[in-house]
Amino acid sequence: MKDLKELEVWFITGSQHLYGEETLKLVADHSMEIAQSLDKDGKIPVKVVFKPTVTTPDKIYELIQQANSDSNCVGIIAWMHTFSPAKMWIRGLNILNKPLLHLHTQFNRDIPWSEIDMNFMNLNQSAHGDREFGFIASRMRLKRKVVTGYWKDDSVLEQINTWSRAAAAWNDWQGAKFVRFGDNMRQVAVTEGDKVEAEMQFGYSVNTHGVGDLVETINKVSEEDLDALCEEYAANYVLADSLKKGNERHASLRDAAKIEIGLRTFLKEGNYKGFTDTFEDLHGLQQLPGIAVQRLMAEGYGFGAEGDWKTAALVRAMKVMATGLKGGNSFMEDYTYHFEPNNKMVLGAHMLEICESIADGKPSCEIHPLGIGGKEDPVRLVFDVAAGPALNASIIDMGNRFRLLVNEVEAIKPPHPLPNLPVARVLWKPYPDMQSGCTAWILAGGAHHTCYSQNLNREYLEDFATIAGLEFILISKQTNMYDFKNELRWNELSTR
Ligand code: MN
Repeated sequence: MKDLKELEVWFITGSQHLYGEETLKLVADHSMEIAQSLDKDGKIPVKVVFKPTVTTPDKIYELIQQANSDSNCVGIIAWMHTFSPAKMWIRGLNILNKPLLHLHTQFNRDIPWSEIDMNFMNLNQSAHGDREFGFIASRMRLKRKVVTGYWKDDSVLEQINTWSRAAAAWNDWQGAKFVRFGDNMRQVAVTEGDKVEAEMQFGYSVNTHGVGDLVETINKVSEEDLDALCEEYAANYVLADSLKKGNERHASLRDAAKIEIGLRTFLKEGNYKGFTDTFEDLHGLQQLPGIAVQRLMAEGYGFGAEGDWKTAALVRAMKVMATGLKGGNSFMEDYTYHFEPNNKMVLGAHMLEICESIADGKPSCEIHPLGIGGKEDPVRLVFDVAAGPALNASIIDMGNRFRLLVNEVEAIKPPHPLPNLPVARVLWKPYPDMQSGCTAWILAGGAHHTCYSQNLNREYLEDFATIAGLEFILISKQTNMYDFKNELRWNELSTR
């Protein structure tokens, strides 16, 4: 994945010529100081690039045109140090096709009580200048994030960090390619969807390859590469005895390694950012890809099982947003419930494909029968997941719009060992509580497939939804079922 420092957000300050050159010089100095401070601060992962103050409709238009066409620019931050009459912004904002953050800040933190005069008032006008800009953005129905506060405050920096990561993920989706090996699992509804609409709205394409194309690549894997990867498995994981060199299932480990190398080669050669597969279409593969998918996800590839391309794209976006953050993001499925009174929880897992980025400790590498798919036993990584705050996110196709649904959860340490469960798994308690959380999810039509995140909070997903024009539905500690049902009803009436 790309280093986020290769990406830029442009810091654009609006003003006008009313105040004279001296004031404009100060505006330029101050905005440069803010941009440089944001850039140097460790909290914001992308470069913050200062741009000269814009004071006319033509300059605004030109600068936004440049932002649109600059492939490293993932968004713009706009700030009105003085008063920038906002009709000047209409033509520029009309063509803006990058994410917009309106920073509602002021160069001076405090009112200089004993010194304040009209010069100070002329310069430090963002309290009303930004309202003028806010009006035109609202009048034009622009999707944007508004961040209010002093530019050195941690909460302001954190909000800019969050938005810039969402903008980077959006940038990553533009022109992204996702490959599907096989179709959706037969008869499944929620993994279906409008791929043409998705490409129009989200900028990524989803196309299929017969699994035979993948098998061809897998069959070209060299013995040396296989040896090396099997050694890597032995070094990184607690390898089951039967899989070790010389033992009875070692050939299966080599088969799994071969699939991993072949898949990685196929994805690299095709410049894909994620993939789907399905256990119903494995012609020519020895086993359903397990460890291969787990490790490719950990490298940053999006993945969705059973042809679930929407989740594959979401997993990819969330991995980009979380670049460099502690913790992980994984494809996930609500698998089974624990309904013990006062201790209700969900066990999340999948047949195999949980990303090792969320593993608590060293995973063990095991082989067990799968029960479906009719292939040889697949090799997989088995692990538990640490306790802590997390969330599940799901994208569904409602027919007239896509919906992003997020449920905040609290992961808990497994209360008992699970010696016979041969898959990676996580236990969580949904907010606001098991009953309301699951009821709300079902009412909103949330999928059984999700992306589980340890390091992204609701705000990342909300910012991403705003940028992507997605309906955003949150199930959190504050969720109240009465309001929630109304929200769904009222959203039904609003178009995106
Ligand atoms: Mn599934």
